[in-house]
Amino acid sequence: MKTISRRAFVATAAVSASLVTSRALQAQEQTAPATSPAPDMSPSPAPARPEPAPVAPAPAPAAAKPATPVMPVGPFKQPPLPFEEAALDPVIGERTVALHYFRHHASYYNNLNAITPGTKYAKMSLEEIIVEGDHDIDKRFFNNAGQAWNHERYWETLKPGGPKVPAGRLGQLIYDNFGSVGDLKEKMIVAAANLFGSGWTWLAQDGAKLSVMNTNGGDSPLTFNKVPLLGIDVWEHAYYLDYENRRPEHVKALLDKLVNWDVVGSRLK
Ligand code: MN
Repeated sequence: MKTISRRAFVATAAVSASLVTSRALQAQEQTAPATSPAPDMSPSPAPARPEPAPVAPAPAPAAAKPATPVMPVGPFKQPPLPFEEAALDPVIGERTVALHYFRHHASYYNNLNAITPGTKYAKMSLEEIIVEGDHDIDKRFFNNAGQAWNHERYWETLKPGGPKVPAGRLGQLIYDNFGSVGDLKEKMIVAAANLFGSGWTWLAQDGAKLSVMNTNGGDSPLTFNKVPLLGIDVWEHAYYLDYENRRPEHVKALLDKLVNWDVVGSRLK
């Protein structure tokens, strides 16, 4: 008996802790939609006491995934993470990747699934919502679709042990526009350091011209009629657990050790 009640207690504590964390994380997201039944405002949503967990898997130390992951069920679906959560360690730690993918990235699809039904956005692709939603006064569609899309492309470009040097046409364009890969990286690190608040630092293409640019929130070069080649997430959730406030250090490590330049080059138009 002793063991059972202790287990139940541990499980309850773990669930409440994960609820609190998940609330706190959602609150940080600027893009949380103001859908009508604001769950936090209802008088007594008494987080029904979690029933004595039948399975009591001791709370994993790095339990970033919610006990019952609320993954997007569609129609907007989050693509699978293209690598193991620990694959980017130590440049980006396992817990950061798990929180980033399962909580932050997933929330944008959950938000879209909550707010698009019955609107003109319901049947659109993410890119279509980005283009259309950019002109909408209600920015929730643009913000959530933008962030969903930006992150899909972000995960695709990270690959430990990937090619360290841009080759082929991309290599030539970088040479023509920046002088060297080192100069490009330096430009991106400085741009990221100068981005105020939350946003993205990009390598973008406009014909034969490549440029480094920043966007705020969930915006991207798409709305500037440029091709996004590489986007670095510089929202604090992307690096704070690993680097605290040292954003430039994070960006440098990511550029030096994780970027798959083949994927970046394949996006050239
Ligand atoms: Mn992010």
